[in-house]
Amino acid sequence: MRQDGIRSRSQASERSQVVGFIDTDYTGVVNDLQGFPFRSGRLCLDFSATLGGRYRGGVERLGSTEDVRRWLRASGLCPRPASVKDHHVDAARGLREAIYRLAHPKQKPSSADVATVNRWAGLPPLAPKLAVDGTVHFRGSVEAALSTVARDAIDLLTGPLARRIRECARPDCSLLFVDASRPGRRRWCSMERCGNRLKTAAYRRRNQERRRPRHSTKVGR
Ligand SMILES: [Zn+2]
Repeated sequence: MRQDGIRSRSQASERSQVVGFIDTDYTGVVNDLQGFPFRSGRLCLDFSATLGGRYRGGVERLGSTEDVRRWLRASGLCPRPASVKDHHVDAARGLREAIYRLAHPKQKPSSADVATVNRWAGLPPLAPKLAVDGTVHFRGSVEAALSTVARDAIDLLTGPLARRIRECARPDCSLLFVDASRPGRRRWCSMERCGNRLKTAAYRRRNQERRRPRHSTKVGR
């Protein structure tokens, strides 16, 4: 049995249906549980998505200690997270932004971001605990959870999928995801949420242009 708890919730959920060893807290709901997107295909990128709408001023989903606690629970990392303090919120956001910049396909890595990820990865991660029913639970502090996220980022950034990190092509979205498709030409974090929306908008726009009356009179120059 591999320790796959650090994979994203969506991957984990898919796998749980097959072999059933993922955290019993899983409900099979993989998208936007409690407002958090879990569709990047990777834990560390799901974490980076806790700041949404990056090109629209940003939607902060880690605004409080309760938010951090909810994310830890929703991600499946800590079904019963230890108490989250105010300084954990800043720490989580700092790690999140470092991961985002390092993972973004168009941004150059900075030594400060590398140091941030390494600092967290250097701490003890969450400890997996196997249950007799074949499920695995993770236990540990908030620091341990952030270490697990940082380690997942290092694993992703240094592995074969590093070249498959994409930014969703829907301008409003800005979510990073792993393109695990065979051709490697995936453009959307989710076809339902972003691809179809954009295609529908383009279709409407074309229709409106078609219906618009054409003015044959040329405006004199
Ligand atoms: Zn998207």
